[in-house]
Amino acid sequence: MPDFIAGLPKCELHVHLEGTLERSMQQALARRHKSHHAGASSPESAPPAMSGAGVSGAGVSGAGVSGAGVSGAGVSGSKALASDVPASATAPADDEARSTRPGSASAAASASDEFGTLASFLAAYYDGMRVLGEEEDFFDLTMAYLTKAHHQRVLYCEMFFDPQAHTARGVPFDTVITGIRRAQEAAEATLGIRSQLIMCFLRDEEADSAMATLEAALAYREWIVGVGLDSDENGNPPVKFLRVFERARAEGFHATMHCDPNQVDSLRHLRQCLDVVGVERIDHGVSCLQDDEICDEIARRGLGLTVCPLSNKRIYGDLMASAVTEMLDRGLRVTCNSDDPAYFGGYMSENMRALEDAGLTPSQLAELSKNAFAVSWLPRADRDAYIAGVDAYLAANR
Ligand SMILES: [Zn+2]
Repeated sequence: MPDFIAGLPKCELHVHLEGTLERSMQQALARRHKSHHAGASSPESAPPAMSGAGVSGAGVSGAGVSGAGVSGAGVSGSKALASDVPASATAPADDEARSTRPGSASAAASASDEFGTLASFLAAYYDGMRVLGEEEDFFDLTMAYLTKAHHQRVLYCEMFFDPQAHTARGVPFDTVITGIRRAQEAAEATLGIRSQLIMCFLRDEEADSAMATLEAALAYREWIVGVGLDSDENGNPPVKFLRVFERARAEGFHATMHCDPNQVDSLRHLRQCLDVVGVERIDHGVSCLQDDEICDEIARRGLGLTVCPLSNKRIYGDLMASAVTEMLDRGLRVTCNSDDPAYFGGYMSENMRALEDAGLTPSQLAELSKNAFAVSWLPRADRDAYIAGVDAYLAANR
């Protein structure tokens, strides 16, 4: 049976690139920045024009959208390059409203940690990503994820990234997205794995910051397939970002939003996604099972639900495998995803194996894969071809 999962053609729709930052890469990037920093301050390697300009590479992007207008852009030049930079030195100045931003985190998070709450996970997540500062870091991060995914037979994925978490530290938008994009192109050329990018807004930031981020992203319109909403849901309902999502859709972006399990006002947030914002997918969305009308509406519209078993296990103490089965039984287009695999202990195959251990059958696992391709933001002919591939695999491996 593990071989069935290993060979099953897969599609991942809910993975945060910053959540794929393994501890080993965190350490390697911290070492890289220390050596760059040392090199930049030596007379042999630092051009005179750069001396005093801060760390290498800062602000040299030519695209002219380096976080201008984005919340926290006033700290440009204070780019966090090494893990020995205190979080308080790189956090945006206006963060009194945030409880989960860098600074409150333990730097000791690892795959073995249980987080217990969404807020405690987010604290570790934001703390970890402080080592991401240069284009090459974003390239390496993305390439490592795509390589792992390829080896687990993920044929196509749609990956989230959180630009505000970087621009607020003074890392230009261009640096982030160019590094990611180069890795996407390299991975497709060398490994054959296809991918698209979803830009998430941080819901515990102000809507104006999300709008500024959307405007900065317009210069990269062809590199971004859709927009999403993540981070701390408590007190940050979908309608807070209604204007941002209306503008995004007018600009041609697809739209999805996180509705995390068991949040305060979960059902109200799901209703807002359906009735006010009009999303095309819902990330997590497990709480819909508490309301028959919401379930029926999601089924009627054929919306995808991107469930993340190991994430559920680490944050809520429950894989929610029975919820996945119930969603399948109710005709919901539920999918299996890894969310933040470096923090939750597994990528796509490990998530599927957890569901298998909880009793899901090969045909149910194949259904999850088919659902993912079906609700992906690929052209119809491509979706159909991938789904036919899953059917052929299932027929040959029953
Ligand atoms: Zn997520």
